[in-house]
Amino acid sequence: MENSKELRSWLDNLELPHPLVIAGPCSAETEEQVLNTAHELKDSDVSYYRAGIWKPRTRPGNFEGVGAIGLKWLQKVKEETGLQTATEVANRTHVDLALEHGVDLLWIGARSTVSPFIVQEIADALEGTDKVVLIKNPVNPDLSLWLGAVERLHSANIKKLGVIHRGFSTYQKTKYRNIPEWQIAIELQSRFPDLPLINDPSHITGKRDMVFDVSQTALDLNFDGLMIETHIDPDNAWSDAAQQVTPSVLKQMFKDLKMRKETDEEAEYNANLANLRAQIDVIDNKLIEILGDRMKVSDGIGELKKQRNVAVLQTNRWNSILGKMILEGEQHGLSEEFVLRMFKAIHQESINHQEKIINA
Ligand code: PEP
Ligand code: MN
Repeated sequence: MENSKELRSWLDNLELPHPLVIAGPCSAETEEQVLNTAHELKDSDVSYYRAGIWKPRTRPGNFEGVGAIGLKWLQKVKEETGLQTATEVANRTHVDLALEHGVDLLWIGARSTVSPFIVQEIADALEGTDKVVLIKNPVNPDLSLWLGAVERLHSANIKKLGVIHRGFSTYQKTKYRNIPEWQIAIELQSRFPDLPLINDPSHITGKRDMVFDVSQTALDLNFDGLMIETHIDPDNAWSDAAQQVTPSVLKQMFKDLKMRKETDEEAEYNANLANLRAQIDVIDNKLIEILGDRMKVSDGIGELKKQRNVAVLQTNRWNSILGKMILEGEQHGLSEEFVLRMFKAIHQESINHQEKIINA
């Protein structure tokens, strides 16, 4: 698959407001909840109304979606509010039912993108339709699996194709429900700059009070749209309660978010600058995280040395690290002087950590 203007022409042709906003509840629960939420979102920045009809649950026994009856509620949403509709499909039956009921946008969930069999089944079922199809990243941080799914849909002649970045699961405890790993989305964006890229801050954060900041980062990184879970009564939602916002919070968010896409030269310069700065912020955060991890390993070494009563400073080891890193640095365009200064600082911090442990 090549990058080409055709990849984004569908989005430009739809002439929807930028950013593209998809909002609505995690799950369709009752007809009343679906319709009430939709009516609150009419006359807002929302272009597509989402609701999960079949819910992929990690553990059995949780609410697994209302099933096909919910598609009738989405039809009503469209009739009563004029909003376009969107839902997740995970097999051929879902696709057939969603098409029968006139759903406008179908997305492939993170747990489906990991399975080429499922993706192929969905691609075959969709062949020849002109629906908008968005592919969420796989749950694991694997760009090729994500691209593979895009290629399967592209080969099935789906023209209105895009991707949704919803973060990646990790065993580590972090402030996110699914860590963003922004660099994966940025890499996809730089390979296919014309493939529409939507961010899903709800599943990245898992917490409603973090949704705004992640949305702003996504806009700074030039994402084309946002998918935000919105529920009339989030605290009592049947799934993903902690991350859903009310329609009024959503509307306020779109007043407060700084939009980055403008066309005059000055604005374009500012948009480019904001994009690059957001990339730097992502990398700086990673740097701090990695340095923190390094110190934790170093603490472990301190513990070992303490048990054996070994000296903290091991000069041979240190000289060999420095030699290797200077060569490595050269290959990445870093001067010897910088690598030396940086590693002296890291080494000093490491010694401080170990001193503390040995003398504790
Ligand atoms: C969802 O959008 O409600 C959903 C299940 O998302 P994901 O596939 O990203 O987990
Ligand atoms: Mn959800």
